[in-house]
Order: sequence, then structure tokens, then C-alpha cells
Amino acid sequence: MQHREMIVIGGGMVGALSALLLANQGIIIHLVEKTPCIPPLASGAFDLRVSAFSAQSKHLLELAGVWQSLPQNRLCAYQRLQTWEKGSQKLTFDSQEIGIDALGYIAENSRVQAVLWQALKKCPNVTFYENREVKRIINTDKSVLVCLDNEQQIEAELLIACDGANSAIRQLLDIGITAWDYRQECMLVTIKTDCPQQNITWQEFRETGPCAFLPLAQNNGSLVWYHNPQKISHLKSLSNAQLKEVIKNEFAHLDFDFEVVDKGAFPLTRRHAQSYFKGSCVLLGDAAHTINPLAGQGVNLGFKDVECLVDLLLECSDLPMQILLKRYQWQRKPANLLMQSAMDVFYKVSKSDLGPVRLIRRSVLGLAQKSGPLKNKVMKYAMGL
Ligand SMILES: Cc1cc2nc3c(=O)[nH]c(=O)nc-3n(C[C@H](O)[C@H](O)[C@H](O)COP(=O)(O)OP(=O)(O)OC[C@H]3O[C@@H](n4cnc5c(N)ncnc54)[C@H](O)[C@@H]3O)c2cc1C
Repeated sequence: MQHREMIVIGGGMVGALSALLLANQGIIIHLVEKTPCIPPLASGAFDLRVSAFSAQSKHLLELAGVWQSLPQNRLCAYQRLQTWEKGSQKLTFDSQEIGIDALGYIAENSRVQAVLWQALKKCPNVTFYENREVKRIINTDKSVLVCLDNEQQIEAELLIACDGANSAIRQLLDIGITAWDYRQECMLVTIKTDCPQQNITWQEFRETGPCAFLPLAQNNGSLVWYHNPQKISHLKSLSNAQLKEVIKNEFAHLDFDFEVVDKGAFPLTRRHAQSYFKGSCVLLGDAAHTINPLAGQGVNLGFKDVECLVDLLLECSDLPMQILLKRYQWQRKPANLLMQSAMDVFYKVSKSDLGPVRLIRRSVLGLAQKSGPLKNKVMKYAMGL
């Protein structure tokens, strides 16, 4: 793999994992990141942006050699996942039913990014371009040349664009997207509770949108509240003490006391790139697709993109790049579209207040709870097993 040279644009979780897996195989990597990557404080408050990592994502981070570097006091395994419609029977998934230790792990995005960067900094074959952006791209089927905003030029056989939902590279390449706005926003609230670390994550479905709880390490947690933009704008304007009172009165029932530590809101938009590659440039992660976060699949799908592309680059290195990128698109585009569409159907059905839809919804949740093997299959699929 030596003498192969690739450019990765965007050092978020997806870009940093791609860069590390390829650098570990001896490929020369140029990593361009628009912001300085400042590691989070060892004992600082929990970040608002946290993600649920599936077993498959954990496996990839282990393969990259960084999972074990994640600080244990910031990582929370959960064994149970519960979901229900307000006032109806609960559907419970339990890791014990399929004989594994945990259904997933919740960690702060910034910590995962930081351990990936720490490992990248030790690789002699990685060059960093922090605080830099791409100004121009000359892209052919054989190679790619980028010109950075300081006029520095880099040439490589492949450019891997992982620059997030508003990807500048996707726009420079003139790759279109299909997109729509859910007309909903998602409020994230970090809380400190008065009870020990929880091992359950849950989601209550309501006509206004879901309310969810993600356990964080020690006695911390993250509340996720979907609502219309007007309501979220009002919630954002409240002090932490006022927000706590509204949560107690209007959010799903919490059986512990808590303090609000931090809050923030994110718009929900679905985007899908019409093509995953052009010439010698390829899109991964949020640059290629964003998804409704209600099932916590965003970064897990991004990591599956990484696994697919890295496997193709390493195992089919004799194939022309154009064939290889076509294979990547064949494998990842339909899979991501399927997950996006499944989440949308789930989301729409969960919000509908039509009588027959409500009846079917409650019956399905009740049947699913009793369905044993089928429930276990769904659980394994969501975990990427
Ligand atoms: C409210 C919310 C909750 C979520 N919860 C979950 C969850 O529980 N589980 C889950 O799997 N997913 C979740 N997601 C989705 C997940 O956060 C994203 O899918 C994931 O962060 C995408 O990673 P990425 O590396 O592709 O993009 P990003 O995290 O956006 O990283 C992009 C990187 O590129 C850099 N960059 C941007 N532009 C440029 C440029 N022009 N040049 C150079 N660098 C650039 C940025 O600075 C950044 O470092 C959630 C999303 C939201 C909105």
C-alpha cells in the first residue's frame, strides 16, 4: 500500500476513522480540516452532541485501535432499549435475550473524534492541514488536485469527502442532493440526575414527536425532545431552571430528579447525494446522507460507508478506481436509502393521530413485544450484527 496517496477532507468521526484505517495500512494521507481540532478537557462537562454507537461501530473503532483509548468514565453501555406510544404497552429489547453484553454504547462525539486524532498524530504517513479549506478541485478519472485557501496544492489518486451535511466538496463537484425539511427540530438537554448510572435508553412516541432518554456515564443523561420549531425556539429561550420545570410538566415521565446542565437545538433535514462519487472524489458519512436521528443511526451508517470503502480499497487494489467507486456506490447507496426511508415511515406513522393508524400502531407494538425471534432479528440488525 506504500506510495499510494489519498486526501481526506473533514476530520469529524467519519473522516478521522477513514484516515486512520487507511494510514494504518501504509497509505499516505493528507487530512484537511476546517477547524482546529482541540481535544476536550479530561474532566469537563458532558458535550451536548452524543451518539449511540452500535456493536459494529465499536468493532471498527477497535480495529482502528482506538476504542480502548476512550476514557471509561465518559462511556456508557446500555443493555436495554424501550420504546412505546404514550399511554400504551412498552416494547423492550434486552441484550440478554441475544446473549451479548450491551446493545450499544453512548459517548460524546468530541471524545471519539479526539481519540482518533490522537492516533492519527502518531502516524508518520499522515500530514495535517488544520484550519484549512479547499478552494478549487481539478478532478479527473485518474487523479485529483486540490488547491487550499492558502494556495497550497495537493495531488492524490483519491479524495475522500467527509465534510459533513453541508459538504463544500459535494457543492464544488456539483453533485445534486434530494432533500426535505421535517419541519421539526430536536432539542438536546444534558442533565445530571440524582440516581446511579442507567443501563437503559428509551423513547416515547407522541403526536408532537418523540421524547427520548440516553444514559451517559455516571449519573448523567441526555434528553432528546422533538417538537415544532416554534416550541423549540421557546424552550431555548428559557433559563435552565425554567426548562427543568417545563420538562417535568410536559416531557415524558422521568422517575428521578435532575438538574439541567446544557441545552441546544438542531434542525432535522434529510439529504441524500444523487451520486456518491465523481471522477476521483467520493462522498462518505453526512456528506453523502443525513437521516432522522430518532433511531441513532447517523454515524453508524457513516462508519459502514468507511468500512465498505476501506475494504474495497485494500482488497480490490488491482481494480481501476472508477469500477471500485461504482462498487462502493452500489453497496452503500441503496442501503442508506433503505434506512432513511424506514426511519421516515416510522417517524410519520409514530406522529399520525388518525384513528386506524393509531390502532395498528398499538397492535404492532403489542405483537412485536411478544414476537421473540422476530424482535431479536430486528435488534441484531439495528446493532449491525
Ligand atoms: C440531534 C442529533 C442527534 C444525533 N444522534 C445520533 C446518534 O445517537 N447516533 C448516531 O449514529 N448518529 C447521530 N446523529 C448523527 C451524527 O451526529 C452524524 O451522522 C455524524 O456526526 C456525522 O459525522 P461526519 O464525520 O460525517 O460529519 P461531521 O460530524 O459533520 O464532521 C464533518 C467534519 O468536517 C469538517 N468540515 C466541514 N466543512 C469542511 C470544509 N469545507 N473543509 C474541511 N473540513 C470541513 C468539520 O469541521 C467537521 O470536523 C445525530 C445527529 C443529530 C443532528
